[in-house]
Amino acid sequence: MTAKSYDVIVAGVGAMGSAACWHLARRGLRVLGLDRFELGHAMGSSHGLTRIIRLAYFEGSHYVPIVRRAHELWAQTGEAAGMKLLHVTGSLDLAPQGEGQVENSLQSCLDHSLVHELLDGADIARRFPAFRLPLGHVGLWQPGGGFVASEKAIYAHVGLAQSRGAEIRMGEPMLDWSPTADGGVTVRTQGGTYSAGRLVIASGGWIADAVPALAKPVQTVRQAIGWFTTRRPELFREDVFPVFILSVEEGAFYGFPLYEHPGFKLGGPHFGREPMDPREPDRTPSPRQVALIRECLQRYIPDAAGAPLTLKGCVYSVTPDEDFIIDAVPGAPQAVFASCCSGHGFKFASAIGEILADLSTTGRPAFDLAPFSLARFQA
Ligand SMILES: Cc1cc2nc3c(=O)[nH]c(=O)nc-3n(C[C@H](O)[C@H](O)[C@H](O)COP(=O)(O)OP(=O)(O)OC[C@H]3O[C@@H](n4cnc5c(N)ncnc54)[C@H](O)[C@@H]3O)c2cc1C
Repeated sequence: MTAKSYDVIVAGVGAMGSAACWHLARRGLRVLGLDRFELGHAMGSSHGLTRIIRLAYFEGSHYVPIVRRAHELWAQTGEAAGMKLLHVTGSLDLAPQGEGQVENSLQSCLDHSLVHELLDGADIARRFPAFRLPLGHVGLWQPGGGFVASEKAIYAHVGLAQSRGAEIRMGEPMLDWSPTADGGVTVRTQGGTYSAGRLVIASGGWIADAVPALAKPVQTVRQAIGWFTTRRPELFREDVFPVFILSVEEGAFYGFPLYEHPGFKLGGPHFGREPMDPREPDRTPSPRQVALIRECLQRYIPDAAGAPLTLKGCVYSVTPDEDFIIDAVPGAPQAVFASCCSGHGFKFASAIGEILADLSTTGRPAFDLAPFSLARFQA
């Protein structure tokens, strides 16, 4: 039997893959999107209602042009899908003076002429009375930051891609793939064998199964998020409270204004690495991480330190330098991948979808991808 044929197959219809499906389908290509689980599942990296988008970027100024494009695309995609995906609340970096986070975010603002304000402890307490920060903490306020409605964003990308003819098959994982002699690919699933000119691999925590070269540099880790009862919800409304990353002695924690849930959402510790095999079915957050989150609330955001309402765990992949890897598979340029976004990738997904579409069509993305090459781990 002849394999059903597509221009591009996308393996993984999560944050990055759903965006790739949309950007490929809108170019008129025949697209097949395959995913291991059902749409809206809570086994990967993208569930839990929201993800922070920051333009001020302590992880490196080179991310700013891509996040600016992502910001633009989130607004456009939301409009096209009739859903509000981008919520601009402002973003706050909160850290001890001299520790690096605020200084590096400031540098990214200066490098890219982003509007910003440096705040001292008194400014923070006056403008955002929910925080009780240690002496010596300073802040960087950037009004363009906010959050993306992460689950809605995947629905929006899938719906738009389908409206342009993309075929989306959930619950049908890619079992394996191979390059073909004519420069295309063959993909095998339990449902059959498909062929395509190009393959986009966006399988998140499972990516090393499809790209064995990632097995060494990429680690998958467990992360916790929780929603907690607030005593004073008026302090945490979207119109008065921003998204933030708070560095304290217990670790780095990140939080959101109230959104579609009565509780205050806090996650972390951001850089705490608890290894986890994504094949393990249990997504319960680790008691250690939950205890750290509760301690953070009690000490630094006491009005949100009420009883937990929802606790969730999820998995994400991390690279040694915590930068992304976006590249072609070694020896198979017809297969490109993006993942390993080290816990800060969602905000970029709209732009990474476009980058993956460029890589698998023209081969010329609009951004310099050298900082994200796989080669940096292969020396
Ligand atoms: C708790 C938490 C908080 C975070 N906070 C932020 C934040 O505030 N801001 C931010 O920018 N980023 C944040 N991140 C990071 C961000 O969410 C991730 O970088 C992003 O979701 C990764 O998207 P992805 O498409 O690579 O993975 P996913 O969205 O998980 O998608 C991968 C998909 O591949 C599928 N799949 C797996 N194997 C196969 C296969 N063999 N065949 C087909 N499909 C397959 C999976 O089922 C899944 O649907 C956070 C992550 C976590 C876990």
